[in-house]
Amino acid sequence: MTMNNQGRPTSIENASNSNRSGYPSYTGSRGLSQVEGLIYEIGDTHRTGVDLPEVEEFESRLGGMERSGEIGLAGLTEPEAMRHYTRLSRKNYAIDLGLYPLGSCTMKHNPRLNEKVVRLPGLSDIHPLQPISTTQGALDLIDTLAHWLKTLTGMPAVAMSPKAGAHGELCGLMTIRAALEAKGDARSIVLAPESAHGTNPATAALCGYTVKPIPATKDGRVDLEAMKEALGPDVAAIMVTNPNTCGLFEREIIEIADAVHEVGGYFYCDGANFNAIVGKVRPGDLGIDAMHINLHKTFSTPHGGGGPGAGPVVLSEALAPYAPIPYVVAGDEEFDLVEHDTSGKSFGRMTAFHGQMGMFVRALAYMMSHGADGLAKVAEDSVLNANYILASLKDVMSASFNGPCMHEALFDDRFLKDTGVSTLDFSKAMIDEGYHPMTMYFPLVVHGAMLIEPTESESKLSVDQFIGMMRHLVAAAKAGEKDRFSGAPYNAPLRRLDETAAARNPVLRWTKSEQ
Ligand SMILES: *Cc1c(COP(=O)(O)O)cnc(C)c1O
Repeated sequence: MTMNNQGRPTSIENASNSNRSGYPSYTGSRGLSQVEGLIYEIGDTHRTGVDLPEVEEFESRLGGMERSGEIGLAGLTEPEAMRHYTRLSRKNYAIDLGLYPLGSCTMKHNPRLNEKVVRLPGLSDIHPLQPISTTQGALDLIDTLAHWLKTLTGMPAVAMSPKAGAHGELCGLMTIRAALEAKGDARSIVLAPESAHGTNPATAALCGYTVKPIPATKDGRVDLEAMKEALGPDVAAIMVTNPNTCGLFEREIIEIADAVHEVGGYFYCDGANFNAIVGKVRPGDLGIDAMHINLHKTFSTPHGGGGPGAGPVVLSEALAPYAPIPYVVAGDEEFDLVEHDTSGKSFGRMTAFHGQMGMFVRALAYMMSHGADGLAKVAEDSVLNANYILASLKDVMSASFNGPCMHEALFDDRFLKDTGVSTLDFSKAMIDEGYHPMTMYFPLVVHGAMLIEPTESESKLSVDQFIGMMRHLVAAAKAGEKDRFSGAPYNAPLRRLDETAAARNPVLRWTKSEQ
């Protein structure tokens, strides 16, 4: 197959590799999966889907700044444009197509009820600059969601405006920094376990802190002794994810909280994995001072299932005054917005308006349709599904830690020893079986990690099929079918790509290739 300089197949004739029948193919398509070039390659500047009248003579008011050359954007007719994007969409794996065993991003089903509610005109056709007398319902919704978040976490306050988990971390650390500076106690160090999500140290660094990594114990948890040694009067905060990125509950979380409080630091919890404990454990009872909640993970609509994100941050009494503006307040008669901080304590504004309204609506729809009992069941089912996978695979794969897990099951590559198959090869073979691979090579605390999170929305039928597929591939690897893995994927639209080159040298601009 001829590739253009971006490594993509070029025209249809060039894509004429043989398809699965083994016969040469004219189109390169495989049955209903059509091959097509890039939009720049199939379109041209003279084709269009609209019929506009000729522009009449006019006098330009751009003072000679107007473009003289062609824009060079490809044009397509309407049916061509429809087909192009529909064909592309069919090459994607999607949460609406199958189980997504990806780790901590909880790629779970987004109930259609959420979508119905968010499209109600009273919620979708409003603007944040409307007079607040006309948006009382929306403010009521934000306030009600805040109430649920505070109740579920056992925390007294919540900052609603951050627009993703990482943004919530930034909000949390900026709140902590403002609180410390108000006491005249600016500190310079933030502690983060080695297994932390990359956004934790990145956030701390962005806030100007030096990040000190805390090693993990043999059983995959924060090494309390090492952490105590790293503590001192210059530690502003510790950032801990619970359940952690190995899918394990930090059993010594209260000791961690007490130790960091003893030196005057704050306990920031990364709440991205809250779906494993929602309705079961209240972070406020564990001594946590600030925690972001990924509404788009715990309460459906993950990045891969619709997105975008929303990362409200629950805060302790001591941190609440330093939270960002704006925020909603419930008056006696109506809801109001606090747009300006009169106390002088708030660290300022993070977003133009009040947060990610579409995600607020979906999250509240998810909460209210589940109810309090249903949300506790979310945690139970997410943990049950992950443990079912762990128990069903640990006789043939290598579980990284002993004992049960929380919402995700962690394996490493010891079971592939002497097979010549790597974690990457194994993942590529999963694509041939119609599955998106699990998170690979993360967390870094185990070698060749495979982190599987089925989520609570998968049925037993679906999880059983996944387990059967995994056992089938493990048996093939152990039987020496190396080529099946090293050459995978065979059935995907494109074969194995050079991912390292793509990451190190991304070609982000299309240029016409000289054929
Ligand atoms: C997803 C995730 C984040 C970041 O959240 P975004 O919404 O993607 O910014 C942080 N920490 C953990 C543990 C996560 O899983």
